[in-house]
Amino acid sequence: MNDFNQPISGNDLARFSGPNTFMRLPQASSLDGLDVAILGVPMDIGTSWRSGTRFGPKQIRAESAMLRPYNMATGAAPFDSLQMADVGDLAINTFSLSDSLRIIQDSYDAILGAGVIPVALGGDHAITLPILRAIAAKHGPVALVHVDAHADVNDEMFGERETHGTVFRRAHEEGLIVPEKTYQIGIRGTGYAADDFTEAQGWGFQHFPAHELWHRPLGPIGAEIRRDIGDRPVYVTYDIDSLDPAFAPGTGTPEIGGLTTPQALELIRALRGLNVVGCDLVEVSPPYDTSGNTALTAANLIYELLCILPGVTYR
Ligand code: MN
Ligand code: MN
Repeated sequence: MNDFNQPISGNDLARFSGPNTFMRLPQASSLDGLDVAILGVPMDIGTSWRSGTRFGPKQIRAESAMLRPYNMATGAAPFDSLQMADVGDLAINTFSLSDSLRIIQDSYDAILGAGVIPVALGGDHAITLPILRAIAAKHGPVALVHVDAHADVNDEMFGERETHGTVFRRAHEEGLIVPEKTYQIGIRGTGYAADDFTEAQGWGFQHFPAHELWHRPLGPIGAEIRRDIGDRPVYVTYDIDSLDPAFAPGTGTPEIGGLTTPQALELIRALRGLNVVGCDLVEVSPPYDTSGNTALTAANLIYELLCILPGVTYR
């Protein structure tokens, strides 16, 4: 055995007991000695349709109790070489979106300043804008792997410039991401205008619409993206609504015809080897997740993201 934090085993303590931390890892009150901080951002005041993502972190943690430390498909042993802990939830201001975004950015400045890789459990997608502001302040403009049914490139929603649907236009305007190294995967659904997506493609964003991915393995596409990004820093933002609502119904703005669970796994696994400087999984809305499968899937995808972080041992 090693000195790194380990999830509590389901053979040592029944899965339905123990701390409600991600995979029942230790909860840390300080960033000292950590390589990776898993944190919750329980926020849903940036959403435009169904609410409920404020309950996302708690429910993802609850479903993560099923997870075991070794990835039997890829050989990844994420807890054998990286010190990980759940650092709890950010104390957002649920009465103010702008104040919440400021709190998120300040918290990320501290995490990144300590040299720790942040892994966020959302929360609605608005959390990713302040995260990218902090990420870019530390690493400069980053490559972005954005898996989502939606491009989230609106200019305004009800006159508001910071919402879950405007994140990547702001990130582009503010120079937080490298547009030619921004990959939007799983985009679909109806639009307000026939050319809704062409403007972002004009900035350089690379679009992978869901209908072009139907019935196709995503490993080769992920490998192509990995080669294209090279060794530059990359942030991965994973909106659970990229999956088809048959697999992930518990989300705020579902769109039919989405990715399958195997495609989601193929894509993340193909990104192994990238210089991932942070990631998030957003838009899980437990009130609409009657089976718990959405939060369970989210917990597994976060685990798969942990498995591709730099420094992970493979066996
Ligand atoms: Mn989104
Ligand atoms: Mn979405």
